[in-house]
Amino acid sequence: RDKDDDGLLPVLPPDITRNAFNNAIAELTKSLGEPNVVLTDKPLVDGWYLEHPNTHDAFHVHSREDTISSATVYPGSTEEVQTIVKWANKHLIPIYPISMGRNLGYGGAAPRVRGSIVMDLGKRMNKILKIDGDNCSCLLEPGVTYFALYEAVQKSGYPLWIDTTDVGGGSVLGNALDRGVGYTPYGDHFGNHCGMEVVLPTGDIVRLGMGALPGKDNTDNPTWQSFQYGYGPYSDGIFTQSNYGIVTKMGFWLMPATEHLTFAITFAREDDFERIIDIIRPLSAQRVLGNVPQIRHVTQELAVTGIRKKDIYAGDGPVPEQVIREHMKATIYGDVTWIFYATVYGPKDSRNTSIDVVRKAFSVIPDAKFIFPDDVPPDHYLHARVAIASGVPMLTDLDWLHWKSNGSHLAFSPISPVDGKDARKLYEMVQKRHGEFGFDMMPAFCIAPREMHFIDIICYDRGDEDEKRRAIKCIRAMIADAAKEGYGEYRTHILLSDQVAATYNWNNAALMRLNETLKDALDPNGILAPGKAGIWPKRFREKGWEI
Ligand code: ADP
Repeated sequence: RDKDDDGLLPVLPPDITRNAFNNAIAELTKSLGEPNVVLTDKPLVDGWYLEHPNTHDAFHVHSREDTISSATVYPGSTEEVQTIVKWANKHLIPIYPISMGRNLGYGGAAPRVRGSIVMDLGKRMNKILKIDGDNCSCLLEPGVTYFALYEAVQKSGYPLWIDTTDVGGGSVLGNALDRGVGYTPYGDHFGNHCGMEVVLPTGDIVRLGMGALPGKDNTDNPTWQSFQYGYGPYSDGIFTQSNYGIVTKMGFWLMPATEHLTFAITFAREDDFERIIDIIRPLSAQRVLGNVPQIRHVTQELAVTGIRKKDIYAGDGPVPEQVIREHMKATIYGDVTWIFYATVYGPKDSRNTSIDVVRKAFSVIPDAKFIFPDDVPPDHYLHARVAIASGVPMLTDLDWLHWKSNGSHLAFSPISPVDGKDARKLYEMVQKRHGEFGFDMMPAFCIAPREMHFIDIICYDRGDEDEKRRAIKCIRAMIADAAKEGYGEYRTHILLSDQVAATYNWNNAALMRLNETLKDALDPNGILAPGKAGIWPKRFREKGWEI
């Protein structure tokens, strides 16, 4: 960054002079108030999960200054969002909306285009607008975290559950827009949303679903959070993983509380892996296991105990599996290679029936060992899975970041058929690349009835430039390997979105041509999150931005 006598100067948005930028910022500050427009003119601080920065990617994989904003703006209402959007169109300055910006592993709060203005909606627009106990639904602003929603639902006294991601500090709305997942039967966050309010890139506001039909006396439609579709084309999906609009309100369904039992099944023999996946598929499809269960590799399991790599292995490259297993032997799980976390829901009788079905299914694997919450001490990780499977937000899953100094992660997350052969193929593909680039394996498979989200974690030291270079090379190689076999990512880091988007290229990239047609129609000046999801507005296209 350039400096002047007062210190660091903010980086400039593309094609804007310092003078034009300063004038534009002065204009914006005048309409929003001094505290609500903050220049990025200080040294960057990575912070940590609960004190994350909104100026850059806390888990930077390139230079920290690469994906940095020029300023952050804090709207306090939908009208102020409109004001900012109109200002951006006038000055041709890109804006990048975030809700909380805790999207770690996928870019955090960072804009794809250096010098964009980050629009941090979460700070001031953080109200729970409604909890409807009879309809089992809620209406939220962008800044509502899983923790905040959980507390409000508890306080309301209604017997309802929320659904949370592994770590609960993110925005409920932001995660659903990035199509994140959780671990109750309502784990498909976008699938369980109902109704949206969106500010379009030209400044117009639209309500989707039943919200488009005003209620009596111009109130919110009473079925806005009840019926997802309304009338006409179903547009909600185009505002997810995209840069077509800024979502200012979003409705979600809440699950009626039930009883549940979460347990682990451990497996010692690596050779059983394919069989295990094939056994899980019908259990998931028949909803014997009522959520999306996950099977985790032993390295991640050891790491979540908070152990550090350097304490158990002095060599370069991945820790050999024998060393990991040796250390696992000292834990309650013992000598294992995979750990499966599953949950059965409902009253005791039906849970017992379900557990019997699960036991019978796994009886063909002689050393499958069932471990229940009562079998482990209160601080054991299994209790975090118990909480998350019933929508109680936690922070425990941050513990495996201690594996490395300055522990950061990148997630490689392809979708695969639920088939042991595919699981094996992906696992070996990842193992080969992790070995080549020197990273430990920390994969987990989240097994829905008809597909698996394979979540492979590259845990790296963001203080080590060489390690960051290797992490990027590793993930790029895996994206390419996977695409050759027909596997595509469900979500990716902002800096990898061009590569991932380019793999979805059937019929001469018909999907991207459609995405670009929509982008140019909705955002003719190309001001909203250019490059998000690999979608570049016309004025940026083919000018060297795609990487
Ligand atoms: P979280 O803190 O829940 O992890 P973020 O706020 O970082 O989520 O949001 C994840 C991504 O979703 C952001 O990078 C942004 O691209 C998009 N996003 C988040 N909130 C909005 C919003 N209100 N409108 C449009 N896009 C959004």
